[in-house]
Amino acid sequence: MNDLYSRHRRIMPDWLALYYDDPIEITHGEGRHVWDFNGRRYLDFFGGILTTMTAHALPEVTKAVSEQAGRIIHSSTLYLNRPMVELAERIAQVSGIPDARVFFTTSGTEANDTALLLATAHRRSNTILAMRNSYHGRSFSAVGITGNRGWSPTSLSPLQTLYVHGGVRTRGPFAGLDDRDFIDACVADLKDVLGHTRPPAALIAEPVQGVGGFTSPPDGLYAAFRDVLKAQGILWIADEVQTGWGRTGDHFWGWQAHARSGPPDIVTFAKGIGNGMSIGGVIARAEIMNCLDANSISTFGGTQITMAAGLANLGYLLEHDLQGNARRVGGLLIERLRAVTAQLPGVREVRGRGLMIGVELVKPGTDEADPRTAAAVLEAARQGGLLIGKGGGHDTSALRIAPPLSLTVAEAEEGAAILEEALRSSY
Ligand code: PMP
Repeated sequence: MNDLYSRHRRIMPDWLALYYDDPIEITHGEGRHVWDFNGRRYLDFFGGILTTMTAHALPEVTKAVSEQAGRIIHSSTLYLNRPMVELAERIAQVSGIPDARVFFTTSGTEANDTALLLATAHRRSNTILAMRNSYHGRSFSAVGITGNRGWSPTSLSPLQTLYVHGGVRTRGPFAGLDDRDFIDACVADLKDVLGHTRPPAALIAEPVQGVGGFTSPPDGLYAAFRDVLKAQGILWIADEVQTGWGRTGDHFWGWQAHARSGPPDIVTFAKGIGNGMSIGGVIARAEIMNCLDANSISTFGGTQITMAAGLANLGYLLEHDLQGNARRVGGLLIERLRAVTAQLPGVREVRGRGLMIGVELVKPGTDEADPRTAAAVLEAARQGGLLIGKGGGHDTSALRIAPPLSLTVAEAEEGAAILEEALRSSY
């Protein structure tokens, strides 16, 4: 018997959400599998987006971390730090940002805070454009640019935030439009917002909204936005915390589906790059990164041990072409899920790219979100030995699938079969 849940309830804040009626304590993992306290094994179709970009207990990362732990973990600032410089160099090389500078933080939230610090200082403006249904983190300023009400626990931000359309296609006034008309409608909305505000510092957007339900804006949307923003000197911040490092298969960064007008001014990243070690960061052109006129350091951002993990993990990802694996295996998985859900009236859409796949549920025969069935499917999948996530701003009615990027075809098929069964048994 595991009494950890009751202890958790007594000591942790009420707002610290857990999945499942009987939450799982994960005790160890290997590859794409994790084990719980009772020794039950699960195929992990969600940990890839949270912490584990490549594989659980990847030997290359474990070795790099334990060797570094035995050598030195010191401040990431004030003294030269070799693994930090080396990882920054590698990230700059793959960033697609000209004259890139890299700054490391400990989380995605802190990365986005840093991006806001840069953009507001560079533009001398505290007005920010953000997307409806977005999620950018939990700090005071990050919740101030988070459009997803369920993840924005205070409205007292000192930023002036204006929300624009575009992140979600299945709902809202522009639902049902084809790609071209959808983009035109969103650009018209953006221009309308710009006509009623002081000059904003930046637009921040997730290329594919993560917490918002793995949504799928049309390719080119942010390029069309970029044309409008550029004309007014407004910066484009791409929050790549979920979409970076090849997850979307076709592209190494999510913004590359919107690259016609050049790369973003600022990119933020976090989550899986350390394969569980806490790495976040910001990439920006030197002109923007260097606009701060006083010291700004992070004691733990860029420590040798997290950087050692990042170097080993990114090296593994590139050497084994895990972006290509995400494209191939993710493509098969999407096709397979579309086939098995085609006859299910409650499945409105299977969407996604690479290994970032959303399954949106509605009450059968209606257009209404169906969070209750989504929760039931999560439970049923768990019973079947599969961990998935859920999300979505219009009630939590999208299932989220994001396995480690090393997922095999056999594992994809096994997971699809469990999910099919879970969906069937939940109606
Ligand atoms: N941005 C996005 C797109 C995210 O999905 C998240 C985390 N869910 C964050 C920022 C915040 O990252 P962290 O939890 O590491 O602070």
